[in-house]
Amino acid sequence: MNLNHLFTDKVQSMQAYPVASGGGMIKLDAMESPYTLPEEMRQALGTVLSMININRYPNPNSSSLIALLRKQFNLPQGFDVMLGNGSDELIQLVLLATMRPNSTVLSPAPSFVLYEQYAEVCGMRYVGVDLNADFSLDEAAFLAALQREQPAVTFLAYPNNPTGMLLNKDFVKTVCEQAAGLVVIDEAYTAYADDNALDLLTQYDNVIVIRTLSKIGLAGIRLGYMVGRPELLEQINKVRMPYNINLLTKGAARFMLEQMPYLNEQVEKILKEKVALYDWLAARSDVTVYPSQTNFLLLRCADSTEVFTKLRDEHRILVKNLHGVHPVLDNVLRITVGKAEENAKLREALVAILAV
Ligand SMILES: *Cc1c(COP(=O)(O)O)cnc(C)c1O
Repeated sequence: MNLNHLFTDKVQSMQAYPVASGGGMIKLDAMESPYTLPEEMRQALGTVLSMININRYPNPNSSSLIALLRKQFNLPQGFDVMLGNGSDELIQLVLLATMRPNSTVLSPAPSFVLYEQYAEVCGMRYVGVDLNADFSLDEAAFLAALQREQPAVTFLAYPNNPTGMLLNKDFVKTVCEQAAGLVVIDEAYTAYADDNALDLLTQYDNVIVIRTLSKIGLAGIRLGYMVGRPELLEQINKVRMPYNINLLTKGAARFMLEQMPYLNEQVEKILKEKVALYDWLAARSDVTVYPSQTNFLLLRCADSTEVFTKLRDEHRILVKNLHGVHPVLDNVLRITVGKAEENAKLREALVAILAV
């Protein structure tokens, strides 16, 4: 018996978020850190986790973890911090708390796919303002859309995924000024970027900043955090499930946040590797590489689908093919920066593939 009709039209027409299986491959597709923990740190983490009383529900306040996040990331005083099961959950909670029939969600396009997906699941209307061919934003068009659509929520990824670029800060301020609704600034890549938007919290009442530990080596523990005025987070907090962050995540996060020098060292290594990979790609005449304020690079080639397929099938290297996602991404690959030896293998593979 086919029971599809039991599900909403939207759900029936959706695709689940695609996750490629990277078993046995060099994984350069998901903006993960390539570094695993050193043996001693593993042992110490194991000891810490073994002490947790998993018979108990987690404390929904998470005050010690939040205090540690405030300290390690210099979060401004006077604002609340709320935790999410990844920043994915926080994006969803903002929409759950603001959804009304006919309300609109606005963002540049292409940007993080879940803005659109969750907006539509929440029955909201998603409007994307197309980026220019060079991945810059048509600021006038965006401000016009802001006036026209009066979005309940505007998402600005700062830097943007998948383009890797930062918006002009003055433009972000103008958006905050002119938006009647919430402006959610998604700083998933802030560790790799030259600027962040925490200073806007004190300047504009409608700003929320969302961040994650995923892109600095902790994707597996699923922890994101959101910073905003207490009045805003108090409302959003009502739709959060009380025990959304499990005890093992909290314990691992507390442990790892005491190892900031180690985490920062990984970020520095990735940034160095990124520059080396960028310079190597920029010197080739058969591809175009774009500047990036993240841990990934965009690469345009003559036939990205062919390069993607050969990397995967002949060289066991998994990257993300963005061809078909949006017209400005035609023949574009997104490559997460890996370890030195992984990036070397990528370069060798590209030489072999592009030579023929
Ligand atoms: C990776 C990413 C996220 C999601 O991060 P999680 O915390 O792992 O859920 C959110 N926003 C952007 C722009 C991202 O690239």
